[in-house]
Amino acid sequence: MQTEQTTQKIIVIPGDGIGPEVTEAAVLTLQALGAGLEFTFLDRINADRYLRDGVALTDGELEEVRTAGTVLFGAVGDPRVTNPDYARGVLLRLRTDLDLYVNYRPAVLLDERLSPLRDESRRGIDCVVVRENTEGLYTGVGGSLRTGTPDEVTVDQETNTHLGVSRIVEYAYGIARRSVCMVDKSNAVRFGGQLWQRVWRETRDRHPELDSSHLYVDVAAMKLVKDPASFDVIVTNNSYGDILSDLTAELAGGLGTAASANINPRTGMGLYEPVHGSAPDIVGKGLANPAGAVLSAALLLRDRGLKSEAEALERAVRRTVAERRCTPDLGGTLNTRQAGEAIRAALD
Ligand code: ATP
Repeated sequence: MQTEQTTQKIIVIPGDGIGPEVTEAAVLTLQALGAGLEFTFLDRINADRYLRDGVALTDGELEEVRTAGTVLFGAVGDPRVTNPDYARGVLLRLRTDLDLYVNYRPAVLLDERLSPLRDESRRGIDCVVVRENTEGLYTGVGGSLRTGTPDEVTVDQETNTHLGVSRIVEYAYGIARRSVCMVDKSNAVRFGGQLWQRVWRETRDRHPELDSSHLYVDVAAMKLVKDPASFDVIVTNNSYGDILSDLTAELAGGLGTAASANINPRTGMGLYEPVHGSAPDIVGKGLANPAGAVLSAALLLRDRGLKSEAEALERAVRRTVAERRCTPDLGGTLNTRQAGEAIRAALD
């Protein structure tokens, strides 16, 4: 984490779909806070350019991001682009080339009425999914044989390194308040599973001050619905973290409110983005909830040493949700712009 400075440079990549709509709200809110941030917009990084020029992210843009060290990101993805190289070339490249190995996804129930759970005693979710962000099933290692024929064979390899597993498990223990639950599928995925188990046991033994537990991913999904309040930090691999964090997002009030930080705690670099994607079905309709993007901006502030500003922003979002000054997905009637204005008006 970096210490407070007078002016901090932030790269903004609005991207595709609802990305620009929610990012606008996040930037305006950061500006309203007057936290001494300076924004550089890289709005040419989008599907239009990829379709026109075949360019996802240039080396120059990557270097610009590396120099600034902090990115506010909207979303990447467009129904017109069927080639997965585009999304891989933007977001996965940024995560991998900047070695943003932690995907930090907090889930805190913003308001009682947003919980989808019938039983009131189950509702109080306040946890973080710590998702490994650079390995697992999403490295693109694999291939196919006899592609496009009835004899096609495909392989997508899951990569787990001792370094990758150690640093993510250690990070999870480093941020936990009371407990860490390690989630894997080591009963079925043998070799990677054994590595995660071994590293987790070693790390657990170094942290007797915290409660440690282990769950297979299927049981974790069930327990998250049955007893969400029992979780503090969940640490898991790239794909399980991807899936479980959508579940925790929904338990905490919906995908539109979920924030995330892709960070490298060793270098201090970070890319902050809402958990949702480009949501092509609601683009341009004013239905996109800006809360996930705004709360991602709060994570950015916290990591830049601006804790009181981050808290002010979180309080403002909570207040607007409680007063239903929000978008329809949270029971309000405001459009994206109005919801962003409401959050700014609620800043104290
Ligand atoms: P992508 O492929 O880019 O991830 P997607 O549509 O598959 O896009 P999401 O963008 O995560 O996945 O969205 C899933 C659904 O959740 C959307 O269809 C939309 O209805 C809803 N949704 C996502 N984000 C928001 C938001 N910010 N506000 C309101 N609804 C949202």
